[in-house]
Amino acid sequence: MSFQKEGGRGRDDDKGGRGDKGEGMEDDKRGGRSFGRRKVCRYCADKNAHVDYKDQSALKYFVTERGKIIPRRISGNCAKHQREVAKAIKRSRGLALIPYLVLAG
Ligand SMILES: [Zn+2]
Repeated sequence: MSFQKEGGRGRDDDKGGRGDKGEGMEDDKRGGRSFGRRKVCRYCADKNAHVDYKDQSALKYFVTERGKIIPRRISGNCAKHQREVAKAIKRSRGLALIPYLVLAG
């Protein structure tokens, strides 16, 4: 009588493999944000210009292709006018001049 251990039942040695989940962690973020570098907001700069919710072409400047409002940092508006613009955009969305959301990439 001898105990025979059934040790090797097909050892799964290659289970697990190598988890190659690295997604190339290369953060090449250098502070090079030379996007819309506007010194003052365009509405302050041009006193004749005013935020108009009917002015679709002007408002589109402050909206991404997807229909999102561009943040103040990028648009360069001052706080006051950014608010006006945001309001105008929302209003003109209601008039279907500007899309709420563009799904197509
Ligand atoms: Zn302004």
